[in-house]
Formats: sequence, structure tokens, C-alpha cells
Amino acid sequence: MKHILENKMKEAGVRILYNTTFSKAVTDGKKVCGVVVENIEGRKAFTSKMVVDCTGDGCVAADAGCAFEVGEDGDYTECQAMTLMFLVGNIPEKYKDGLMIYEKLNAAYQKAGKEIPFKVPYLIPVPNTHFGVIQFTHMYNYNPLDAMDLTDAVIEGRQQLIDAFEYLTKYDDEFKELELITSASVLGVRESRRINGEYTMELNDLLNGTEFEDAVARVTFNADLHTKSNKGQRCFYVKPYTVPMRSLIPEGYDGIIVAGRCISGTREAMASYRVSGNCCQMGENAGYAISEAIKTDTDIRKVKINRKLTL
Ligand SMILES: Cc1cc2nc3c(=O)[nH]c(=O)nc-3n(C[C@H](O)[C@H](O)[C@H](O)COP(=O)(O)OP(=O)(O)OC[C@H]3O[C@@H](n4cnc5c(N)ncnc54)[C@H](O)[C@@H]3O)c2cc1C
Repeated sequence: MKHILENKMKEAGVRILYNTTFSKAVTDGKKVCGVVVENIEGRKAFTSKMVVDCTGDGCVAADAGCAFEVGEDGDYTECQAMTLMFLVGNIPEKYKDGLMIYEKLNAAYQKAGKEIPFKVPYLIPVPNTHFGVIQFTHMYNYNPLDAMDLTDAVIEGRQQLIDAFEYLTKYDDEFKELELITSASVLGVRESRRINGEYTMELNDLLNGTEFEDAVARVTFNADLHTKSNKGQRCFYVKPYTVPMRSLIPEGYDGIIVAGRCISGTREAMASYRVSGNCCQMGENAGYAISEAIKTDTDIRKVKINRKLTL
């Protein structure tokens, strides 16, 4: 997939720059004019007509001064749990299509005299192999905008997965031969900044299936909050709905749009549109809208999206 995407970018004339971290927004008042980045060359600035902030955390928008929300009325401890995924091998043949692994893990935790950190773990198979990833570790109360907290969450995640692996192989006969291959190289953060945009997606938009004229994504995924209160998930059904371009435009700012989980929405709304397929649609259509805006010298707010939504 990585190779295919790189080739698609090449075909489209996109220049990719890896191993580079965003550092500062270049601004002129409430207009974003570029970014300062850091990489092997040191610090470097790129100027631009428009920036699309797809950092997940809205890093560029926040640094430029755009307002944002985080957690429940600013309480970051209510943000959805973080997860460090891990890859295992030698999955028993009978579970090669996947397994809700709570019963087994919980029994193993009980035998070890420990409390399980998450009640809806899932073993996700890698098709046609004996490998699978386990979505299990859940780290609560860490601040997704604090570098030290993010580090501590990784360390706790690694401990949780080592514990889970140890208890499972020790106490469950079916998983005795399971192999621990690796822990994820990146901590999974489900929720952080939600930039305040020209339109804020709300729960009612999901429940009513709102169709926006300036839609950039069609969402069918139900809402799914990984909550600390029940160490599980709070889910509710949505009616297929769309996300408007206005939710990608930080209120009062020019030269920047955001795409992905950091767009403008309440926590409940974000719990649905945050998943990958939706973020991909937003990113693709944001890129399209920006290229139109630049080619025709039009304000991004006036660009007609008019694209067939993929879902
Ligand atoms: C554990 C876990 C399991 C999930 N499972 C599923 C699932 O099964 N199906 C599904 O559809 N969704 C799933 N999701 C949700 C989904 O993966 C995310 O919500 C989605 O990827 C968010 O997309 P995004 O583009 O906003 O951010 P991301 O996918 O996080 O992309 C942001 C990118 O920006 C880069 N970046 C960030 N900051 C900087 C910076 N300062 N400088 C340079 N680059 C930067 C990051 O490296 C990253 O590549 C899961 C999420 C988690 C945490």
C-alpha cells in the first residue's frame, strides 16, 4: 500500500518529503503563509498559498493561533484512551479469521490476579498469514498535547502488552505457542485537538443524516468512544451523513484548512468521522479544493466541491 500510494503521488506530480517534522507556522496576522520544518538539513521554511494541516492533532492550525477544543470542556483526561497496538504470530488456526479476545484475556488476567485495562479487545488477523494485531492496550488520563505524557503512555502501553502476552501464553492453553513479534512504532492517539471551524459538526448532524451542500466526505461509520468510565466503548448508530468543507476551515483564518480527526466537531461527532476512510476523503477533497482555489485565484470558501463522494 505504501508503494502504491507513493507511485500515485508521483503520477500526480506531488513531491514527498519524509523524515520531516512541522515546527512553526509562518503567519501574517490571521493568514497562514507557510510552515517551518525540521529535518536532516536543520530548520527550513516553506512558503505557500495554502496549507492543509493533516497532522491529526491540528498542530499547524494551533500554532498559527486558531482556536480549538480538547477533551470535555477542556478536561483532557476525558479524551478517548490511547492504544499501542502489537503484532503477534502463530495464531491458532481456528482464530485465523479474528477473535473478540475479551473472555480469554479476562480469564488470564483473573488467573494472574490482575485487573484488565480494556473490555473490548480484538485480535485482527493479517489475511493469509498466521499473524494478527491485537487492539488491547488502553491508556487513560494522559494529555495528548504533552510530550512527556505521550512518552509515558508509550511506556505504559508496552508494559500492558507485555503483561497481556505473558498472561495469555501462561494461562490459556490455546495461546501457549503465540509469539510476540513487535509493538507499534507509533502510539495511537484517538482524540486531541478539535479546531474551531466555520461549522461545528454536532451529534444531531449524525443522527439526522445531514446532507451539506459543501460536503467533502460521506460518513457511514457509527460513533465509537473508547471511554475510561467503563474501560470499554460507548457506541451509537448514525444515519449516513456528510461533512461540510466549512468544518475544515478554521474560523477567522485564511491560508489554511485542516483535514482528518482534528476538524471542527463535538467529541461525539468526532467519534464517528475520525476513522481512516473518512479522513482520507476529507484530505483528498481538501487537496482538490485547494488546487482549484489556487488555480482560479478563488477564496477556498467559494470553491464548488462538486465531487462524487466515494462512500
Ligand atoms: C489504536 C487505534 C485503532 C484504530 N482503528 C481503526 C480502524 O480499525 N479503522 C479505522 O478506520 N480507523 C481506526 N482508527 C482511527 C484512525 O486511525 C484515525 O482516527 C485516523 O488515522 C486519523 O487520521 P488523520 O489523518 O486525522 O491523522 P493520522 O492518521 O494520525 O495522520 C497524521 C499524520 O501526520 C503526521 N504528523 C503529526 N504531527 C506532525 C508534525 N508535527 N510534523 C510532521 N508530521 C506530523 C503523523 O506522523 C501522521 O502521519 C484507530 C485509531 C487508533 C488510535
